[in-house]
Amino acid sequence: MAATKPSSIFASPPRHTPIHPTPPQTTLSFCVKTLNPKPPFPHKTALSYSSVSRAHNTSLTVYSQNPISDIFSAHKQYPDDSSVDCEDEKPREECGVVGIYGDPEASRLCYLALHALQHRGQEGAGIVCVKGNVLQTITGMGLVSEVFNQSKLDKLPGDLAIGHVRAMLEENGSIFNTTSDTEVVLHLIANSKDRPFLLRIVEACEQLEGAYSMVFVTEDKLVAVRDPHGFRPLVMGRRGNGAVVFASEICALDLIEATYEREVYPGEVVVVDKEGVLSQCLWSRPQPKQCIFEHIYFSQPNSVVFGRSVYQTRLSIGEILATESPVECDVVIAVPDSGVVAALGYAAKAGVPFQQGLIRSHYVGRTFIEPSQKIRDFGVKLKLSPVRAMLEGKRVVVVDDSIVRGTTSSKIVRLLKEAGAKEVHMRIASPPIIGSCYYGVDTPSAEELISNKMKVEEMREAMGLDSLAYLRFDSLKKMLGKQSPNFCYACFTGDYPVKPRD
Ligand code: SF4
Repeated sequence: MAATKPSSIFASPPRHTPIHPTPPQTTLSFCVKTLNPKPPFPHKTALSYSSVSRAHNTSLTVYSQNPISDIFSAHKQYPDDSSVDCEDEKPREECGVVGIYGDPEASRLCYLALHALQHRGQEGAGIVCVKGNVLQTITGMGLVSEVFNQSKLDKLPGDLAIGHVRAMLEENGSIFNTTSDTEVVLHLIANSKDRPFLLRIVEACEQLEGAYSMVFVTEDKLVAVRDPHGFRPLVMGRRGNGAVVFASEICALDLIEATYEREVYPGEVVVVDKEGVLSQCLWSRPQPKQCIFEHIYFSQPNSVVFGRSVYQTRLSIGEILATESPVECDVVIAVPDSGVVAALGYAAKAGVPFQQGLIRSHYVGRTFIEPSQKIRDFGVKLKLSPVRAMLEGKRVVVVDDSIVRGTTSSKIVRLLKEAGAKEVHMRIASPPIIGSCYYGVDTPSAEELISNKMKVEEMREAMGLDSLAYLRFDSLKKMLGKQSPNFCYACFTGDYPVKPRD
């Protein structure tokens, strides 16, 4: 990655205040997605964190009543429920962030926005708020609704707040997997020789490589930063009272009635304070490499991500699959929830009814513990229930977003056949995944990916399918049109925009 000194100023919201001539004796808080310090590119990055830290001149130390990095110890053991959740073998996003400046209900709005971002991380949540130069933090493990209640939110006053939801880290392969992750960025900022606050962030970020979207708070500022390739989304909006909001996805803005204004641009730092909004470019921007999996799987269908409707993207993919990989069938079903919109597109194009052939249980989740190794196969049945009336004697097309290891897909095929499906044809709304993600998505190693081990026909046979077809890579690019060069496809191609290092 080319890292140059800050150069261009974005002209968006009208006012650009001068940067503080001297660094504030400031308090910093971070909600960071994924990043690497530049020198040793980590074997694999899958990190997000939140912490509260205090800067005293150049000395930054972690300051938190309950830092999430402590909670998510790299050595902590969690139950293996991999056979329970049908999405467990899917790539997993690691974090969702929100930041709000200028609303007296900032922490409560953060809380609501985190609900909208819960799909981006379900293992932990945290909110930091600022009032009168004092930062208050509440973080914890679990869903947003489990971490916060009325009395906790009452302890988070102020009109400036940030929040995050996050997923658990894989212990192996994540270079930032302990409290040290927090300290990396803090020390980079602390050690920065650039005196103005904004330039200290710039200098720190220039030493990072990889994928990150960050929101910071100081005692009087909200800061949002996005990496130069723009791997992960970060959007900016405004509430009716003028409060500025940053969030990972537009769906969070919608929930708190903030109007979408624009994306935070790749390589941009946006600072919001009482003077207004200051926007500055960190680096000369390379070609954006936005994660295509945000459209295929991670983001909510009601979000607009990287300037495209997620719903429309998935619908188009389904239509392409129906056009390029047709099959005689009686019904089209989806693996819920992420396959639903592509299945709707397939069904509409094929002129075949879409039905709910699989019902997803929303009441079996993270906390389920397998009673015994011998009955692990019950896992998929706990999560997905076939609708016999829609399947019996039918030729079924089942649409899923991706296949990773292939184990869950095999179980789903068996489930459908046991429920009486005469034929099962699987259509996958992405090209085959052949490489791990190094940009903050939790994926298995390349050796574990079924598309690395088998050809499509071998997979079809191994899974007991009557036919199997993936979205073609060139069709995906064609569908994206002029935006196509702006996306990362590395897990389909092995062509990594930021090269992994040993
Ligand atoms: S490697 Fe795949 S999952 Fe990772 S950023 Fe690129 S497209 Fe997204």
